[in-house]
Amino acid sequence: MVKRLWVILLVVWMLLPGLVYASEELIKMSQDEKQWVMPARDYANTRFSPLKQITTENVKNLRAAWTFSTGVLRGHEGAPLVIGDTMYVHTAFPNHVYALDLTKEGAPIKWKYTPTQDPAVIPVACCDVVNRGLAYGHGMIFLNTLDATTVALDAKTGKEIWRVQQGDFKKGMTITGAPLVIKNVVISGISGGEFGVRGFVTANDVATGRQVWRAYSAGPDSDVLIGPDFVAPYPDHQGKDLGVTTWQGDEWKRGGGTTWGWYSYDPELDLLYYSTGNPGTWNPDQRPGDNKWSMTIFARNPDTGMAKWAYQMTPHDAWDYDGVNENILADLKIGDKTVKALMHFDRNGFGYTIDRTNGKLIVAKPYGPVNWAKGIDLNTGRPIEDPAKRTSSKGNTKDICPAAIGFKDQQPAAYSPQTGLVYVPTNNICMDYEGVEVKYSEGQPYVGAIVRMYPGPGGHRGALIAWDPTKGEKVWEIKENLAAYGGALVTAGDVVFYGTMEGWLKAVNAKTGEVLWKFKTPSGIIGNPMTYVGPDGKQYVAVLSGVGGWAGIGIAAGIGAEDPTAGLGALGAFGDVDKATTLGGVLTVFSLPD
Ligand code: CA
Repeated sequence: MVKRLWVILLVVWMLLPGLVYASEELIKMSQDEKQWVMPARDYANTRFSPLKQITTENVKNLRAAWTFSTGVLRGHEGAPLVIGDTMYVHTAFPNHVYALDLTKEGAPIKWKYTPTQDPAVIPVACCDVVNRGLAYGHGMIFLNTLDATTVALDAKTGKEIWRVQQGDFKKGMTITGAPLVIKNVVISGISGGEFGVRGFVTANDVATGRQVWRAYSAGPDSDVLIGPDFVAPYPDHQGKDLGVTTWQGDEWKRGGGTTWGWYSYDPELDLLYYSTGNPGTWNPDQRPGDNKWSMTIFARNPDTGMAKWAYQMTPHDAWDYDGVNENILADLKIGDKTVKALMHFDRNGFGYTIDRTNGKLIVAKPYGPVNWAKGIDLNTGRPIEDPAKRTSSKGNTKDICPAAIGFKDQQPAAYSPQTGLVYVPTNNICMDYEGVEVKYSEGQPYVGAIVRMYPGPGGHRGALIAWDPTKGEKVWEIKENLAAYGGALVTAGDVVFYGTMEGWLKAVNAKTGEVLWKFKTPSGIIGNPMTYVGPDGKQYVAVLSGVGGWAGIGIAAGIGAEDPTAGLGALGAFGDVDKATTLGGVLTVFSLPD
């Protein structure tokens, strides 16, 4: 018996280094330009590919090589992964996962996995039943399902290895965000900011699914995982239990701050970065105070979850400016200094360049026509608000820019170290907003506002912009009639790819913004283009089309445009999407002719 125990201990000890070094394995894989091994291609969330077979000269010859229908009609966000010779494609609810064999003509299905989920979860998702993609690590594919479950699959066979429920959808908790593997944990967030969910991020052991840590976005420091290592970059971020004391009573318990965005990791600093969403409810009068730590960028130790720093972008939010957008990591030359920077384009309309070692602001400038704040005070970190644009339940506040859906929502930007520019797909939408008194009821919507959105100045509803993060300046832009609601990809061939809600995939010169090529995919694009090298040695570009998401909720959920406040206000701005495109998830894969 004792002998057997020793053998088990010996085997566990031998397995441990494999787990600990797994992020090095992933870093190595992400440096292999042929593959796309994590949601944003690299831990830094750049969505930059070193591939350069496709160039500004030859991109005009790009043509569809093969297509794949996902069999699902709702909105398709995110991008597939390519691990070795296999492509992994995810879908909106019911969250199918397909493994496609890239070695065979037409990329036939190797395996398909469909989780068992109660369809009663469908109406619990505020803004379409989207999913933003998969994670890979340790020979496993990780999937977050809409019913708030994390699943580990054998990447070779699709066989389920473990599953862990992160939350109860009957209490308003869902998951739409993509997971991320760091060392021996898989990181997952939670959605439900419109259902009074108290947001959190969870790290589960990759081998067993066991919960290693969970960090809440509100509550006492012991829940938020703030300890002696925490650095507060600004005075109003200092103090004990701010996740309780910046709320009234026990409102923090249904305080939102959900975590449905993207995750980044700096292996050198050993810090995980992500940000939190709106405080609940949308009616600000019901929750006086700064409402920490909603609307906050967190830097955490991925092994323990302990916070290193936090920065709240929109204290006491009154506009649903979810702060969950991606954090792009790059070392930037600013003046004569090289700065370890984090770049973040917030729904509140400001593009931030932050010192990622300590959370201090370097640049914070509007990347669209912002009017709720005149700027961000770099000394205090606080927005300089226009009181006339602060919303309340005492009346309807009109002409606020940007709208709740932001100058940018889920659609992730891309950063090129070659041009030094960030390529940001944006919305150009403004709104009227009226707070409404709402009572919390478990599992029921806890919105508390009537919002009407409409096109912003100029009448176009989106643009792709190129942004200099060292100065906070727009370099060029391409206006779009509908929003540029899909993500961006930039390559070493100096080509930027992005999608539109009409379904165009466009290729643009990264330096000049000249449109070089476009292709009309079968449905509106809200997914993110990606690129890889196939077994034949050729560079491919792939994108999921399949309209939906918050901007496309009208067409996705079959809501008519008669009421401009429907779809949490989205129908006012996007009531005509059904004239431009139709539903249906299709992956289109492009290459140059032989
Ligand atoms: Ca929200």
